[in-house]
Amino acid sequence: MNPKWNGQFSCFDLVAQPTDTSAARARTVVPVMDLEIGGSDFIVMAGPCAVESESQLLSTAEAVAQAGARILRGGAYKPRSSPYAFQGLGVEGLKILRKARQETGLAIVTEVMSEEDVDVIAEYADIMQVGTRSMENYALLEALGSCGRPVLLKRGMTATLEELLRSAQVLAMAGNSEIILCERGIRTFETATRNTLDIAAVPVLKTVSHLPVIIDPSHAAGVRSLVPALARAAVAVGADGLLVEVHPCPEQALSDGIQSLDFGDFRDMMDELQPYLAIRQETRELRPRLVVGGAD
Ligand code: PEP
Ligand code: MN
Repeated sequence: MNPKWNGQFSCFDLVAQPTDTSAARARTVVPVMDLEIGGSDFIVMAGPCAVESESQLLSTAEAVAQAGARILRGGAYKPRSSPYAFQGLGVEGLKILRKARQETGLAIVTEVMSEEDVDVIAEYADIMQVGTRSMENYALLEALGSCGRPVLLKRGMTATLEELLRSAQVLAMAGNSEIILCERGIRTFETATRNTLDIAAVPVLKTVSHLPVIIDPSHAAGVRSLVPALARAAVAVGADGLLVEVHPCPEQALSDGIQSLDFGDFRDMMDELQPYLAIRQETRELRPRLVVGGAD
């Protein structure tokens, strides 16, 4: 283990591995319906940035399920950069998500922005998403401590990994240890992509923490043509899954259309991941070395 990490992370004792590797805790596996996030399966969560209508969501749910996604994403409460942009359908969007769940059997992940919405969203969602802008909203994290649902905690766009784990610790101290970490790209001086995917975040987090880690290639890339390559990188680097934006007609999407895949693109991406997943499966016995860390 990198000696620089000593103490930097292990002070977050509920979510970090102790520096003494002989005392390492078993990896956290987050159960969601019949799935295990952080287990041996690579779990793909896919769907539109925002729930826009019943037909948009149901058609997407069916398409992503057929292509192998296990969890449906879709925002009903949207944190938008512009105050003039579509803000989401609220409870109406949650009802549409529930219908998609009933029709396809997919679990639902959707964003919660305010502690006031935790109870209502927990009635509909299988996983509560905390977005990049909310990672340090401690009132929200504390309210999620007793919501009875796992939390998908996205890395703040200007947050260090230490700060991400600090927020995870806040959640765990509030009573919720079912946490999935998500690397979704951070702000750097690079402007060719919307954010910079910090691919090293995955092996670092999987070394210093026992929590599952997924990658959101859509918000990292900001453009759909890059999403499949970043998804392949996620498999290679040992991520536990993906969160991907998919829309029936990205040109008409009310949010994040430029980075959304259409159904055909998504199917192709999933097909292209198969050989990478197969290689990973074959070399699974190598993974503990990555997890525990080795000589520096
Ligand atoms: C989203 O998932 O649509 C979203 C708003 O993500 P982020 O919080 O990473 O920007
Ligand atoms: Mn989005």
